[in-house]
Amino acid sequence: MALPRGLPVVDHHCHLSPTGEGVQAARRFAAAGGTHLFLATQNYARAVPRSLSDYRSQFETTEGLARQVRAETGVVVYPVLAPYPADLVRAAPEIGIAAAVEVQRTALDLAGRWVEEGRAVALGEVGRPHFPVDAEVAAAVEEVLRHAFAVARDADCPLVVHSADLDTAGYAELAARASEAGVRPDRVVKHYARQRIAPPDRSSVTPSYLARRELFREVVSDRGPWFLETDFLDDPARPGAVLDLATVPRRAAALVAGAPDQADRLWVPFSESVEKVYGWNPVVGPEPRR
Ligand SMILES: [Zn+2]
Repeated sequence: MALPRGLPVVDHHCHLSPTGEGVQAARRFAAAGGTHLFLATQNYARAVPRSLSDYRSQFETTEGLARQVRAETGVVVYPVLAPYPADLVRAAPEIGIAAAVEVQRTALDLAGRWVEEGRAVALGEVGRPHFPVDAEVAAAVEEVLRHAFAVARDADCPLVVHSADLDTAGYAELAARASEAGVRPDRVVKHYARQRIAPPDRSSVTPSYLARRELFREVVSDRGPWFLETDFLDDPARPGAVLDLATVPRRAAALVAGAPDQADRLWVPFSESVEKVYGWNPVVGPEPRR
């Protein structure tokens, strides 16, 4: 059985590294049938970023990888940029908490400008560390997150949220934060969602589900928007820490082979949800902004 004609095959959240497999991983994705990647930036160095220029060069690395993948594999890559929330926790003891907040705020401003210039499509990852932090750092995290919402509103783009696993109340809290900031809740994407959250329980926040076999089966009939992702880390030191980059196209192919009547459900994560959350068709991409 073939995939529906014209269907894009989209991994909504992955990382690539210049010191990892990089383009080779994207080649594997393409060979399995993948067509589009949302590529989240990451800290590519051992040291934590301590200045805006550290983040600028990090974003430039992400953009360079995106271009290289596109040129060498034909896979379309959409960069997603932000200072990683846990960086704040690591930077605070080194440069002081106020300076660490300022670096994150200005890096978010930079990411917002890149969205406005069409060099990125969303802010991500933003949010909260997935481990406990002390009260002072937690307050700083909240201040940065508030700023992220404001930047997303002004740049008119989605936010991809990193956080611990969320329950119904957690989704509701994110939706409330979005509404307060003037951001549509469905433009807030909870990345690395590891459990199905029923549509009425997610307060219109969009889950990006880890593409595990069982979870995919559970959510495949849900109404959108929702996405599939691997959160591939491209870290040779941690093989198998996350799903392989070929997983999303393999899940799509397995669904079509095992339940051909459900093949049309794939339009939800791969096409309709991108249109709903991002405002453009994944095959066409965003309109040039300026
Ligand atoms: Zn990630």
